[in-house]
Amino acid sequence: VRNPKVVILGAGYGGLMTVTRLQKMVSVNEADITLVNKHDYHYETTWLHEASAGTLHHDRCRYPIKDVIDTNKVNFVQDSVKLIKTDEKKVILENGELNYDYLVVALGAHPETFGIQGLKEYAFTISNINSARQIREHIEYQFATYNTEEEKDDTRLTIVVGGAGFTGIEFLGELANRVPELCREYDIDPKKVRIICVEAAPTALPGFDPELVEYAVNQLQRKGVEFRIGTAIKECTEQGIIVGKDDQTEEIKAGTVIWAAGVRGNSVIEESGFEAMRGRVKVEKDLRAPGHDDVFIIGDCSLIINEEINRPYPPTAQIAMQQGEVCARNLAALIRGKKELEPFKPDIKGTVASLGEDDAVGIALGKKMVGTKASFMKKMIDNRALYMVGGAGLVLKKGKFKFF
Ligand code: FAD
Ligand code: NAD
Repeated sequence: VRNPKVVILGAGYGGLMTVTRLQKMVSVNEADITLVNKHDYHYETTWLHEASAGTLHHDRCRYPIKDVIDTNKVNFVQDSVKLIKTDEKKVILENGELNYDYLVVALGAHPETFGIQGLKEYAFTISNINSARQIREHIEYQFATYNTEEEKDDTRLTIVVGGAGFTGIEFLGELANRVPELCREYDIDPKKVRIICVEAAPTALPGFDPELVEYAVNQLQRKGVEFRIGTAIKECTEQGIIVGKDDQTEEIKAGTVIWAAGVRGNSVIEESGFEAMRGRVKVEKDLRAPGHDDVFIIGDCSLIINEEINRPYPPTAQIAMQQGEVCARNLAALIRGKKELEPFKPDIKGTVASLGEDDAVGIALGKKMVGTKASFMKKMIDNRALYMVGGAGLVLKKGKFKFF
């Protein structure tokens, strides 16, 4: 008899956690494991706001996948997933196809644009290494160009951030630190630079602890960020954005627009015919897709309900990694012919958001914290994620050790 074929799509938090755990649990004679990812590197999605602002080089946010997989047990395929054909147990890639007995879909998120006109064409999103690098370069280009022009266009130096969720707020923290450096580098009067955050909800970080929200907003305002709360982006154009508040609309001209106002599951999910809400599949307790005993869906492509409040958990790396651990154990069980699978239960340890390299806000292990203490905690969380996938060696290579 042949080994069961296990195919894992995506080498982000969920996918890499699954593979690195599974390779320790099964022997070469038990399963043929294949990992597919668009790039030959893994990136820390949770650090991309830093690469985008230019406060941390993008190479610091990524490492080769080969560094953490056991190539005796795992076959790595660098390719783009196009479609999953569940009825044929087949995955269509850009350059080929793969058959599976068990599939894990961990392809992460795509930006949610809610059909707002012009966003796809004119706004940037903090989504991967390519987009982060492009944002950094685009902003720097605006600063570099400013003094070369006969007629100075101050709106070049306006940066709009759409959404004051965690991504928007963390990016603003980095940007507020980066702008003074750019001003020095390109001889620009800091007063000419505007950073404007537009948030549709009545508060920044909706749903988060109000005291911590106030701290975060005050710290960012102190560094020059303007907030437009209760204001929605209605359209994005080549010149900037159109916003709406109550019944009024207004144009804000800007050289850079960053859309950080939400995510949905990878488009492969819906294109492959899975029943989904905003591209996310409401998975069974054991992380399998309803009606598909051979397909696990984890990370940002999955949706799980917080039964205490009867609402979905927000998609996070924390959950994706925990799902990866359970998914690996469930795969090992199936490979060994067991029928009973383990249910997934998230263990939320807290939420910490950085506000630049030396400041943060958060709740961790039941305690509220701000400032350097929270910032230290955030770096420990970042280092822990590296440790979970690649052990102490990876922490030494890629970890964050500049604490104060
Ligand atoms: P990802 O980790 O994003 O990985 C998806 C992988 O799939 C990538 O390697 C990608 O290249 C690959 N891929 C995508 N499409 C294809 C394709 N078609 N073919 C082949 N490969 C493909 N969460 C937290 O818990 N804490 C935080 O502090 C935090 N900070 C964040 C900061 C930012 C700036 C952002 C954007 C998100 C943050 N999040 C945080 C959320 C967190 O990053 C996601 O929830 C998490 O990355 C989801 O993990 P995943 O495995 O589903 O996807
Ligand atoms: P989000 O959905 O959490 O926040 C998006 C924000 O954009 C919301 O506040 C929403 O009101 C606003 N918005 C929506 N439409 C708008 C419009 N038209 N105009 C203006 N504002 C609009 O999305 P996110 O911040 O990208 O986060 C995605 C996921 O990643 C979340 O689950 C989040 O918890 C997680 N994350 C966690 C951390 C952390 O733990 N430190 C950091 C970043 C992201």
